[in-house]
This record gives sequence, C-alpha cells and structure tokens, in this order.
Amino acid sequence: MENMRIDFSRFDTEDDGIHEACGILGISDYHDDDLAHMMYFGLYALQHRGQESCGIAIINKNGEITGQKGIGLVPEVFTERILDRLDGTSAIGHTRYSTTGGSSIENSQPLIFNYKGGRIALAHNGNLVNATKIRYELENKGAIFQTTTDSEVIANLISRYGLKCKDLEEVLKKTMDVIEGAYALVILTQKCLVGIRDPWGMRPLCIGKLGNSYVLASENCAFDAIGADFIRDVEPGEIIFIENGYLRSVRTNYNKPQKTCIFEHIYFARPDSVIDGASIYRARLEAGRLLAKESPVEADLVVGVPDSGITAAIGYSRESGIPYGEALIKNRYVGRTFIQPTQKLRERSVGIKLNALKEEIKGKRIIIIDDSIVRGTTSYRIVQMLKNAGASEVHMRICSPPVLNPCYFGIDISSKEHLIAANHSIEEIRESINADSLAFLSVESLLKTPIGAPANSFCTGCFTGEYPMPVPMYAANSADKHKC
Ligand code: SF4
Repeated sequence: MENMRIDFSRFDTEDDGIHEACGILGISDYHDDDLAHMMYFGLYALQHRGQESCGIAIINKNGEITGQKGIGLVPEVFTERILDRLDGTSAIGHTRYSTTGGSSIENSQPLIFNYKGGRIALAHNGNLVNATKIRYELENKGAIFQTTTDSEVIANLISRYGLKCKDLEEVLKKTMDVIEGAYALVILTQKCLVGIRDPWGMRPLCIGKLGNSYVLASENCAFDAIGADFIRDVEPGEIIFIENGYLRSVRTNYNKPQKTCIFEHIYFARPDSVIDGASIYRARLEAGRLLAKESPVEADLVVGVPDSGITAAIGYSRESGIPYGEALIKNRYVGRTFIQPTQKLRERSVGIKLNALKEEIKGKRIIIIDDSIVRGTTSYRIVQMLKNAGASEVHMRICSPPVLNPCYFGIDISSKEHLIAANHSIEEIRESINADSLAFLSVESLLKTPIGAPANSFCTGCFTGEYPMPVPMYAANSADKHKC
C-alpha cells in the first residue's frame, strides 16, 4: 500500500487547538464600591474564551465612561492598583482571543467611542460575514477605522445611525438589519446597559441577577463566580435594555431559525455552564456515551485528553464498562506566551504541556478521547507519548465529527488547507497519527448531545458545510482577518 503518512512539519505551529474569539460581561446599576472587582472575577471566569487581551469600560461617579484594557490574562492586566482606580456603577468587560496578526492593543476591547447620544462602550463576541463589505462602503463615505475588528464596523454603524434615528433602540435595530453573522454584544451607554444576541443565536449570552443589579455574560459560569443568579438566556434576535434597575426586552429579526454554534458544547464553553437550557457537562458525557456505542473497541483503560476530553472519556467509560483512568497529566502553568522558536522545540511542546503516567499505561490497551482533530499534530504527539509510555495499543476516539470546513463566525478554524480531515481519509489520518484505530462521533449523534435542545437548533457548518446563512466570497477570503 502506498505510504499516505502526513508530513506534520508543514504545519508550522505548536497550537493545534480551536479557539473561541471572546467572552463578554456586563453589570448594571451596582451600588456597592467593588464593581471593578466583580468585573474582575466575572472576566476571570470567562478567561477560557480568550487569553490574548482583556478590558473593562466603566461609568465613573461623574457619569463618564472610562476604561482600562491590555494585552494579557485578566490577572496580568488588572492589578489591585488598577482595580482600585476603576470606580463606578455600571461596566462591561471583554476577554479576547485573536488570530495571528490581529493581536494588538488597538484591537482589544471594549471599544469606547462617541455617538450623537453621548459616549458609548461596546464589547463583542463573534464574527460578521459582511463586515468587509460594510467597512468598504463606510470608508468610501469617509469613515476612518483604527482597528481591524468587526466590532469597530458595528461601532461605526451605531455612530452613523445615531445621527438619523430618534433613539438608541432604533439605532440598534437598524444596525442589526445591516450586519450579518454571529454576534453577542454588551453595550454601555451613559444611561443604560444593553445586551444583544444575533438573530440566529450563534453566540451565547445570558442574563443574571446580583442583588438589585442585572448581569449579562457569555456563560453563566461568570454568574457563579460573582454570586449572581441565572435568570435566562437572551433569545436570538433579542435586545435587552437595562436602565435604573429595570429590564426591557425588544425582539427584532426573530424570524430566523436558531443556529447556536455546536462547538460551544463540544469544546468552548466551560463544563459548569448551561447554554439555552442544555448543560455543557451533560452534553460532553453524552458525546462520550454515544461514541462508545458507535465505535466500541476492546481495551483496558479509557483516558481523556485534558481538559476538554475528560468528561467525554468518563461517558465512554460508563457506557463501555472499560475503566476510566487518569493517564495524562497536564502542566497547568504553561502560559499563552510559551516560546518555541524552532520546529524541533515545538515538537517538545506537547511533552511539556502533557506528560504520561507510565505506571498507569504500561502494557495496557488505551482508548484516548479528545474533543476534535484540526491539524492532527497534537493527536500524533499524544499517541506517541502513550506508546513511549508502554501502551500496547492506542485507540483514538474523537467526540465530534471530522472538521471539514472553515468557520466564518468567530472561531479560529480558518482555511481548508490546514484541516487534516478535509484533505485525508480517516484511514490516512489514523496511519499518520500512528493510532491502532481512529473513530469520530457522527453528526447525527453529536446533535443529540445537548440534552433538551432541539437537534435542528445548531450550526454544524465546520462539519457539514451547511452554514446558517450564505457566506459571501469576500468573507470566505478574509475569514481570519476581522475577528472581534
Ligand atoms: S462553523 Fe463550526 S465553529 Fe463555526 S459557528 Fe458553526 S459550528 Fe461553530
């Protein structure tokens, strides 16, 4: 048979994962003096959604919107001294992941800008498919952009419609009529806090209550971090206005079918979050259970790739009856700035991030569960690690289908060229990662995993090529350039 082995060295990156684009948070009408600390704790809980930069915009006691943002993790950017300076009653915040080339302080959020109604701050999670077109049209009318983000396109539209519309509600409705794609927004004006979820509900946003204050967050795990109670999810196409302690809901563009990103359930969201009524933890357990039913194999131990493969591995173990074991130990102190200047050093990176427990593995047939395979480099190194530790067989099981297509909605799955499953058969991938067997979860089973949510309420574009909306060619060509 012809040797189909894939040359992983052409993938010049150590980071084989998929990344979310952002986490957003807003707290309104909070009258204790520790608002900045509450924002800090909430953003800390959303750190998994973005580690590149973060920021907070806050209304100070004089009614002015000020902000602080920086490159780095939440505790790196927000020191005690900075938090003490950020004093106010309402605030929004953002954690951002950016693609290569897009990481700069200008692109970090919240964006603060002026419009006819006063000063305004905006934080965005998602990606617009028509941002390039709108930006081009606005630039032709004289607009100047300071960042490369879609979020600034939204800010510019708000500014422009502010000149013509009678109030903020009309401005936001008009903006939503023009923008297309995935977006969850929190907006802070000098009068109110606003939350918006796109008409397809692609990105999550939920409402909580903290005493008399309302809170908006990408995930309810942020509510738990600050002691807020979950109230409900923002509906697709809904605008939430919170002013003087009162919440008002406005529905617009609600005739679209809900299409929440299924990757939230597979990987992005924290297991202790619940999105649209479906528990992320239970979805991952179910993915493992269904994977065991679809792709059984005889083995001695089921192991999850930390962290996102662990819950599915427990589900696989329960269904198959094969014991679950902790055989890969993660180094929790490898930061985002882990430097690997050469390919040889990059190859060492998995060994530094993960290590195998030889005593647990030696002589055993291992089933290793991971959330997804994008480029394949990490899978290859993990299989090698298990074999080097003495595993007699390594069977890889993936609790999502093969990733065959790019994402245009704010997730870092850029071109098909880098997607191993888009260019190779499952057997070729198996051979290349040196596994004894390899199987993926089917799309049908994946859609059953968010328990309680209708199967047709999810985007599966990166698996099936069926996106919730048409993706213009220019968006397809610039999918990785204009993230939030
Ligand atoms: S294409 Fe994939 S990653 Fe992108 S929004 Fe749809 S399901 Fe999520």
